[in-house]
Amino acid sequence: MSATKNKRNIELYKGVDFRRELTFREKKVAEIKREKMKILADVKPVPKYMITVDLSHARGNLDALRMCLSELEWKQYPFGRKDQHCDIHWQCQNFEQNPDLYGGKVNKFPGISCICSKNNLFRVLDQMRALYPDDYDFYPRTWYLPEQLQQLAHDIRKMNEKRVKPRPTFIVKPDTGSQGEGIYLIRDVQDYLVNNGRANVCQEYLSDVFLIDKFKFDLRVYAVLKSVDPLELYICKEGLARFSTVPYESPTSRNIHETFMHLTNYSLNKKSTSFNRSDRDDEGSKRTLTSVFSRMQRHGYNTDKIWKRIEHIIVKTMIAIIPDMKIEMLAALPPNKPGPTCFQILGFDILLLHNLKPILLEINSSPSLRIDSEVEVAPGVVDYVPSPKDEEVKIPLIRDTLLLVAPKKKVNYLESFREVVHGETCKSFASERQKRRRARRERRRQKRDEDDRKRKEEEASRPPVQHERDGVIHVETQHPRSSIVIIKSQEDDDPPKKLNRESSFLLPSVHNVFTNRNENDYFNKDQNQNSLKNDEMDSLTFGYGERTDFIDRIEDDENVTVERLTRENLIDHENSHTKEMYSKSNIGNKTSTGNQYDQDIDNTGNEINNDMRYSDNKDSDYMIGQGDGCHNDRGTEESSNSEEEIDSEPYVSCLKELYPDPLAKKFEHLRIYEKLAEVFMVSLGVRATQRLGPTGFRTFSRKCRLNKKGITNATIDILFIDMQRKWEHVNPERTTGLGFRGFLDACHEIARRKFANGNMLQTMEDFIDYCLDNLHEDQLFQARCNPRLLPRRARPHGYPILEPMVSPTSPMILEENIGVLLESRLAGRNYSKPTSAEDVDQFLRRHGQLRALKTTVKRVKSRNKKKEKDE
Ligand code: ADP
Repeated sequence: MSATKNKRNIELYKGVDFRRELTFREKKVAEIKREKMKILADVKPVPKYMITVDLSHARGNLDALRMCLSELEWKQYPFGRKDQHCDIHWQCQNFEQNPDLYGGKVNKFPGISCICSKNNLFRVLDQMRALYPDDYDFYPRTWYLPEQLQQLAHDIRKMNEKRVKPRPTFIVKPDTGSQGEGIYLIRDVQDYLVNNGRANVCQEYLSDVFLIDKFKFDLRVYAVLKSVDPLELYICKEGLARFSTVPYESPTSRNIHETFMHLTNYSLNKKSTSFNRSDRDDEGSKRTLTSVFSRMQRHGYNTDKIWKRIEHIIVKTMIAIIPDMKIEMLAALPPNKPGPTCFQILGFDILLLHNLKPILLEINSSPSLRIDSEVEVAPGVVDYVPSPKDEEVKIPLIRDTLLLVAPKKKVNYLESFREVVHGETCKSFASERQKRRRARRERRRQKRDEDDRKRKEEEASRPPVQHERDGVIHVETQHPRSSIVIIKSQEDDDPPKKLNRESSFLLPSVHNVFTNRNENDYFNKDQNQNSLKNDEMDSLTFGYGERTDFIDRIEDDENVTVERLTRENLIDHENSHTKEMYSKSNIGNKTSTGNQYDQDIDNTGNEINNDMRYSDNKDSDYMIGQGDGCHNDRGTEESSNSEEEIDSEPYVSCLKELYPDPLAKKFEHLRIYEKLAEVFMVSLGVRATQRLGPTGFRTFSRKCRLNKKGITNATIDILFIDMQRKWEHVNPERTTGLGFRGFLDACHEIARRKFANGNMLQTMEDFIDYCLDNLHEDQLFQARCNPRLLPRRARPHGYPILEPMVSPTSPMILEENIGVLLESRLAGRNYSKPTSAEDVDQFLRRHGQLRALKTTVKRVKSRNKKKEKDE
């Protein structure tokens, strides 16, 4: 018994061994294949103007990216490139994922995930709100837990005493959480779960939200940050709306736990049984932003105004976080070292209140770029299916981002790209290629026609040749690819069997692949394909010209069809999915379905009236007359798929510039903290650190000459310790020193004590001006002593450094500031501001001595006097 058992076991083991060996072998083969591909990727020469993309750190779902890259015909490097850096590096997590980059562009900014964490973001916004309360009123009031637990308890108690209606509710969110994970609603501090002291933000729960179909929803708006210094920001005209899956009710103690009612995250709601996966534009739990806006427009809401406010929110938020980003950039990419430049796609979550005021909920630094969705095919078994709405939004977003950041030199090489990138319109990306192909095809066709004509003329001049071989008569036709074979029957009265060697095999396949014609147009299906109808046979036997015409006709059909398909971009692209998206994106944002909506109104008119229950008391500013004020960027024209339209449709990028043009003028004044970031960076001393130690803080005080204002070193030390303690919780790694936000707080404190000027903004501005003036002088002094102290980029060639390290956004830009400097230097010496700052600047560069200013001023004055006299 045991022997048989052993035998069976041995067999079993053998089986297992065999299987294991198989898997080993498979793995080995896969590895070898991978290695081969790596080598191939390295060895294959790349054309000079080919744009290259490194995907070696882009794990996860890359469908959308790959589709865009193959559509643009850019070179992908799945394993990276060894010989040199790629033009674009696409990373899935963060900048730090690949610290060895020395060139190209990378799709992540250093440290941005920390900057965009809820805790940090709302603190940053709070600091801006302190200076600009009217500008920064677009996010809910926030408490930082656990440090502000007492404050929260106090505020709740006050609200309850005031009997605020409806009873306030609060939403608690984990600091670094995402996808709705760990979020819950509370009405009292006791409900707060301490959760091991994990950092949370608690926000006022906005219960008065705008509903569609009785469901709460939020908007995902995409922005592309092209550069930080100078700030260049774009917004994507299309976005997504994510709906909750349980009809919304104001929070009560009964429904407070219903996540599917209060949270709109896709990742949560997809698990709901009532999740609607409809592919129709204005249906389903996920919709495009255009479809939602179109619907609102049809009900008289001014979506233009909403969109404008969303744009403002994005710009203001970016202005708030830019100082932190600059500091991170300085640490990760010191200016005197080679390194990549960065860009990033950001996702802004926006909630619409019932008065249609947009509210910022969070910034997602790595928004999902998936274009598929999860479907449960059987209990517990999920499958991924393409999601057309995601494709409609994300593919143009990725493609236009790639075009935006691609190296200009290479982009300029291709006319169609150039037009797109420089903001003009072009027919399509493929138009160039199509034109070339069409021209090539035309040339080939002409050549063939010419040959045919010549051959026909030759043939016509001599009688047809027939020769008999093995009882079969071969008749040479005029067409080069066809000859007719007449099989001689055994009996004379049998009709001779004929077949056309070429046509009998070629034609059906041509027919199937390229034409829509019925097969019976060419063959009678009932008959044996090898034998043709008698009358056809006659024409074949005796009319060579007709037969060749017939074949020519088919070839012509083939050409016409190939041309048609090429025009539709079907042959050019291997991937049919890409083709679909391509044609979709070419029709641009028109999918907002003029006609379809008209139908929908008719069908669902009653329902909409019920849904828009806030329409009576909505903010009249947002109301427009029916059919008025369409959101211009999102067309509401009828969509059409006709070939001609697709071909002639101009390409319009889905990205619209926000900053510098058109919003820089409007919001430039908000960039006040960037000046303090410069002071902070100068005080840091040692590069590659983002925290200011006690010595650094003293340096700051010394450089800015705070002692002149009565701030002693002891005060500075005490302030440093206080601030370090206060901001310890935003320093989870417990590294010593004061981060930029703590530094800013310290500056507020100093300004409040020594520069108080009635209003907070004015106080801060005075303080910053004072610091910059002193720092400026100090830097000039230092530069004269030791030019090497300043970074290389600030050093003009051949001259000692005379310019401070300034960014173009800083008001320290030379001309005016030297004027200001002169004024302060020569104050009380009966001197008026020099008329030409340029002269002064030139002089400074030449001599590097402030003392010599007097002579310059004199010279300028005398020159001016001369001019006046001459005039
Ligand atoms: P996560 O990063 O986990 O997605 P969010 O801040 O985006 O967290 O919040 C998740 C959802 O909770 C949002 O989509 C929104 O529906 C809801 N929500 C968040 N904050 C508020 C708020 N202050 N008032 C009302 N609803 C909110």
